[in-house]
Parts: sequence; structure tokens; C-alpha cells
Amino acid sequence: MMLARLREGGVINPRLLAAMASVPREEFVPPAGRDQAYADRALAIGHGQTISQPLMVAVIVEALEIAEGDLVLDVGTGSGYQAAVIAACGAHVVSVERIEQLAANAASRLALLGYDVEVVAGDGTLGVPARAPYDAIAVGAAAPRLPLALARQLRDGGRLVVPITADDRGEELIRLRTVDGRWLTESLGPCRFVPLVGADAYGGGDAEHADQ
Ligand code: SAH
Repeated sequence: MMLARLREGGVINPRLLAAMASVPREEFVPPAGRDQAYADRALAIGHGQTISQPLMVAVIVEALEIAEGDLVLDVGTGSGYQAAVIAACGAHVVSVERIEQLAANAASRLALLGYDVEVVAGDGTLGVPARAPYDAIAVGAAAPRLPLALARQLRDGGRLVVPITADDRGEELIRLRTVDGRWLTESLGPCRFVPLVGADAYGGGDAEHADQ
């Protein structure tokens, strides 16, 4: 049923659909939300955060244009679900989460399920420069503006997919691509996300106090 909904939503990449079919979403939602695990909606995961809606995850991951063996940075691990889908597409994933408890939970869940994901606790707005350059970077929370530090961590030909607050009606999903040292951006349409909080985003400098 979830796959039918994804196809209806315009997702066509067969490797992505197979990846989405293979990742057990119920393992990424709290017990209270398990009966809703395959509904096409975001669900609460604690700390005021959500596991993204499956269609949104699919749209983001499709836009990353992942090739086997790509190195991908996932900003905003949350439950780890999107990181697992990216790994199931054949990528090595570095995933960064600012709320330590969520990072720890996701790290043990992903290891238990056997996904090739390295979880880093910290502010992802500045990326994880030690592992750069990346073939692709996904941001799972809404940024107030284009995160330049992330764009700079892409290799040539790399893709950054990030929701950016357009106005008070919501966010716009933006894809930035590096081509011969230049940045090309395009809009992939409207979307809804929790805010990206950090040094180069909302509430910069207060990240360590915002995790209740
Ligand atoms: N894609 C995730 C859900 C993302 S919700 C999933 O599949 O479950 C967005 C996550 O981004 C939240 O967990 C939030 O804590 C995290 N986040 C917000 N700002 C961040 C930052 N600067 N660095 C890293 N993570 C951040």
C-alpha cells in the first residue's frame, strides 16, 4: 500500500522503490505509532521531532540521484529511517543529529538492522567536513537559507537537497548541483519540515539548550 502511494506521488526510480520496500519502517517509530508505520504521514519520535512522511523521504532520496557506492551526508538523523533508505540504495551514509538521545537511539537501531550508516551527534548545519567531499547531501529539516557550508562539502557533480523556508506558507524543497565549480539550484516543489536548528540555521548558538 505504501509503495502504491509512492508511485501515485510520482516516484519512479525502481532501486528506490525496492529500497523503500525493504526498510522495516515499524522499527523506526515508537511502539505507540506502529499501527501507523506504513501510513503516508509523519509520526512523532519524541523530543518534538518527527520521522518524515514516506513520500517526502522518497522525493528527497530520488532527488539525490544516488549511485552504488556514493558517500552521502544525511543531516537530521531523527529516527534514522531516511538514512536507512539511502543506505539501502547502495550508499555509504554519514548521518548527523543534534539531539544526542535521538542520535544514540538511531545509531543502535541502524547497527542492529545492519545498515551502513555512521551516526554523528552534533550540529549538521556545518556539515561533517572530516568526511567530505560527498556525492550527495540530504537535509531533513527546514533551513532559513541555503546552507553554504554544506554546498561547499559536495564534490563536483554533487547534489544537495534541502527544504528552505520560502515564506509563512511553508517550505520549498531545493536541489543544488555543483557543475564545473558552479552552483545550480532548482525548486522541486512545496514541502513541510521541522526547523533546522544550529550555527548556520535557526536559533544559532543555542543548540545545546533546545533538546527538551
Ligand atoms: N529524516 C528523519 C527525520 C528528520 S526530523 C527520519 O527519517 O526520521 C529532523 C531532525 O533534524 C530532527 O531529529 C532534529 O533534531 C534534527 N536537526 C535539526 N537541526 C539539526 C542540525 N543543525 N543538525 C543535525 N540535526 C538537526
